[in-house]
Amino acid sequence: MIIYKSLDEIEIMREAAQIVSRTLGKVAEMIGPGVTPRQLDEMAEAYIISQGAIPGFKGLYGCPSTLLISVNEQVVHGLPTDTPFMEGDIVSVDCGSLYKEYYGDHAYTFEIGTVSEEKKKLLKVTLECLELGIAEAKVGNRISDIGFAIQQHAEKHGYGVVRDLVGHGLGKSLHEDPQVPNYGRRGRGKKIQDGLTIAIEPMINMGTEKVVQLDDNWTIVTEDGLPSAHFEHDIAVINGKPEILSTFKYIEEALAKKQ
Ligand code: MG
Ligand code: MG
Repeated sequence: MIIYKSLDEIEIMREAAQIVSRTLGKVAEMIGPGVTPRQLDEMAEAYIISQGAIPGFKGLYGCPSTLLISVNEQVVHGLPTDTPFMEGDIVSVDCGSLYKEYYGDHAYTFEIGTVSEEKKKLLKVTLECLELGIAEAKVGNRISDIGFAIQQHAEKHGYGVVRDLVGHGLGKSLHEDPQVPNYGRRGRGKKIQDGLTIAIEPMINMGTEKVVQLDDNWTIVTEDGLPSAHFEHDIAVINGKPEILSTFKYIEEALAKKQ
């Protein structure tokens, strides 16, 4: 059952999302060669708490960390380790917050130092997939129109669209109805209505769409070992149109300063 939100609820969700956005901005300032996932995780936990929220993932489904950090062929759900990032890595950082009973949940894939042109293109196309998917989250469309747009764009570039993990409704639970797949045919699933709040999160692989889970029972990796990218925004449908509650502004500002 989809739980539609009032404008007041959406305002709280916007703040929950913005707390994650600012956290990812701090990640952007800090991330680089030699930095470890665990260092980012500790910083993020302290920062979220300083903002009057609590980490959204930690403790949920037994998740041990504030951030989920997935390097190269890791798609999502990587647990923070002490292995430093290396020049040329791409790193998905996914972060959740719980603020006044509502969740924020969004993610960005960072470049470590100079990355290959192939990886740069994967990141660019995945970001475009996110934008194209968001544009479909409007009244008059159905849920599957989002996935259709994402899949068409990714496959045009020869990439694999992960099937086993999907976007989702967001609210007082981190994962609510509806599921928001990153693939599909036009015109399927529920009609999109005002008050819908969802996380759209394309997971796009350079090679096969197939993924496997590591023995840690968390980390999802590509079956062929090729890299994967992941971007996620929180969206509310207001006045028939998608409004992005989260922002990459803080990340972009931090990255611009480092150049
Ligand atoms: Mg999510
Ligand atoms: Mg997420």
